[in-house]
Amino acid sequence: MRIVKAETIALSIPFSDGGGAGAGLMPSKWDRLEITLVRLETDDGFVGWGEAFAYSCRTAVLAALNDMVFPLVIGAEVEDVAGFTGCLQRKLHIQGRFGVVLFAISGVDIALWDLAAKRKRLRLADLLGAKRERFPAYASLVRYGDPAMVEARARMAADQGYGAVKLHEITLPNIEAGRRGASDTKLMTDVNCNWSEDETRKLLPEMKALGLHWVEEPIWPPDDTDRLAALGREFGVPLASGENAGTAQPFARIVEAVNFPQPSVTKVGGVSEYLKVADLARAAQRDVMPHCPYFGPGYWASAHLMAAGEGGMFEFLHIEADAWLSPSIPLPDGGEIALPTGEGLGFEPDMAVIERFRAD
Ligand SMILES: [Mg+2]
Repeated sequence: MRIVKAETIALSIPFSDGGGAGAGLMPSKWDRLEITLVRLETDDGFVGWGEAFAYSCRTAVLAALNDMVFPLVIGAEVEDVAGFTGCLQRKLHIQGRFGVVLFAISGVDIALWDLAAKRKRLRLADLLGAKRERFPAYASLVRYGDPAMVEARARMAADQGYGAVKLHEITLPNIEAGRRGASDTKLMTDVNCNWSEDETRKLLPEMKALGLHWVEEPIWPPDDTDRLAALGREFGVPLASGENAGTAQPFARIVEAVNFPQPSVTKVGGVSEYLKVADLARAAQRDVMPHCPYFGPGYWASAHLMAAGEGGMFEFLHIEADAWLSPSIPLPDGGEIALPTGEGLGFEPDMAVIERFRAD
């Protein structure tokens, strides 16, 4: 297929987390979903959609797409998607092997897989070998930093039927509050690298006592896989990591170091690199837990990968957006998501939503 047109659409959609302060997870107050869409068009009229991760970096990702990646995409003949985006990585490696460059390449890779499936008149999951039509999702709560709120939101998620709830809390009283709220479900917490060595050593035994299903990115820096592996062994607590790793290469170590590798399809290099991570995880007998707290085509791509058997639980960011980008978004119901219908990703944006929330 020949790509004849490539464009970006940036959106900023407000969301509600039910009364949180929007503090702690992003550099500034987090109350909007920043979604960067990649739209590719082929010479025979197919349209493919992708999403590049863009939280707190929208302008930079748009520049990477428009100035660096698209000039290499427009006019290109693409048959082997992974081979093609691998070439993009090589041509742009001086500008970065992770961060905005790879976020941009991820968006193009997802759009190319959408096209590849559409041209075969298949859903992406079927192109990849779908193994299931439904899969479990867990509720991923924002950081509330307030025990009463944490307990209430964890209880709400458990009552909605989720079999697992993930906090982003980093203090013991807040994590204990989450345990009280979600007393009968699996419970995880995502530390986002906030604990010092001392805090980690003090808190991991507490996490074990609370029966946490995993502790995510406890230490800084996230790529210190040797120390992660040693902490997991010493304290016997399952660990998770990988959303801040670019390409499949570092996952060779991550799948050995932690119990749950977490590639993010909009960051890791798209579907192509995610599939390589899944192969590594399978060989190491680890369950992939996709990082996917976003709501553009990356959400749809993660769902297809889950249906193809490449993931244990789908991460659903437990928020209410002012609008969903497509009325066909496969939202969790009773803690489960049903595979989207429609060829390719099955993603077709609502143009009225784009018009209302466009931010570029
Ligand atoms: Mg995380």
